[in-house]
Amino acid sequence: MSLLSVDQARERILSHFEPVETETLPLTNCIHRVLAADIIAADDLPLFDNSSMDGFALRAADTSNAAPASPVTLRVVADIPAGYTPKVFLAPGEAARIMTGAQMPAGADAVIPVEDTDFNTRAPGTPAPATVTLEKPINAGDNVRSRGMDVRAGHSVLEKGNLLKPQDIGLLAMLGFAEVEVYRRPRVALLSSGDELLEAGAPLESGKIRDSNSYMLAALIESAGAQVLRLGIARDTRPSVQGLIEQAASLDADLILSSAGVSVGAFDYVKDVVESNGSLNFWRVNMRPGKPLAFGEYKNIPFIGLPGNPVSAFVGFEVFVRDAIGRLGGISDGGRPNVRVRCEEEIRSDGRESYLRAVLHEKEGLYFARLTGHQGSGNLLSLVQADALLIIPAGVKCVPAGQELNAWLL
Ligand code: AMP
Ligand code: MG
Repeated sequence: MSLLSVDQARERILSHFEPVETETLPLTNCIHRVLAADIIAADDLPLFDNSSMDGFALRAADTSNAAPASPVTLRVVADIPAGYTPKVFLAPGEAARIMTGAQMPAGADAVIPVEDTDFNTRAPGTPAPATVTLEKPINAGDNVRSRGMDVRAGHSVLEKGNLLKPQDIGLLAMLGFAEVEVYRRPRVALLSSGDELLEAGAPLESGKIRDSNSYMLAALIESAGAQVLRLGIARDTRPSVQGLIEQAASLDADLILSSAGVSVGAFDYVKDVVESNGSLNFWRVNMRPGKPLAFGEYKNIPFIGLPGNPVSAFVGFEVFVRDAIGRLGGISDGGRPNVRVRCEEEIRSDGRESYLRAVLHEKEGLYFARLTGHQGSGNLLSLVQADALLIIPAGVKCVPAGQELNAWLL
């Protein structure tokens, strides 16, 4: 078995994943889903010229000589609430009371806010005055939101592959998209393996431990946008392993994910079962934690076997599985943002690409990192307490205090 770099292993895995099919959903069900087509605006936004203030629509030219010593008085010829079409054409010397969001009347080119006039009231039910007086000039276009100033019909506003955020949902509604084409959520079948494992709620027995990985990995899968098919715990027998993996296939999983038993020799049943209908390779990846990794396919479904130690399983998921699920789900930008952090202490490494648990604190805009104590790969509390995974590149054995490194925020 040769040693693979993290990048080589990632490339090999990702090359097996293509986006799943798409579905059309009501906009109300689209949060955190991935757009399957570019969104082209069919309308201008704003849809029509409208007022951004409660005030008076007028012709700016009428106000050019307005001053405290020479106030200008205009005749108020209409009252325009939001939601209606104005029926007037403003002639010189005329104004119309107008509400925020109401359509501008023809002839008007500016709005003076009520507070800049002698009629400074917004009390509901107050009728419009007969005249309005102002003491300063206003420019054409002031307080008018003109049609198309934000979005032009025909332009692309959201791209295929975007994960929909709440503000995107708002924009889609603004543009009249009541249904949206998105990728279906990928289905990830998840199993644990080992005779030592108990369900989290089961009474403890001597020599047994609780199956924490399936709970944590299920949460990770959901956080990556996929649906979890929980298969439970495979015992260290061939029929048990066979039963669960066959179930994954019959449920039409897009990915089968397992944890434990990927160290040499330990995984014989899984290897046998997967190879009976596919192929399975064990890789040694030049990383820490999580050197052993299994990758293959069963009945053409990709299979990833993560290490059993909980911290190794977590790191393996973040390094290899999250982006694979992202690719299945059609996400175009899988790239995870790195933050630069400065080491507060000297850190020793063994030359493998290392993902170390660190606590960060901020001083004057810089992040400083300190390790969360002992980095044993079964010590899940130290991952819980960490703010970030600090990445020590391959080939580095000592990082002096003060040096900067990349980190992933948790
Ligand atoms: P293995 O990869 O089977 O050699 O397991 C490595 C370590 O991870 C052992 O200490 C296992 O008991 C532990 N382990 C395996 N599966 C799980 C699991 N689902 N939850 C928690 N620990 C596990
Ligand atoms: Mg085991």
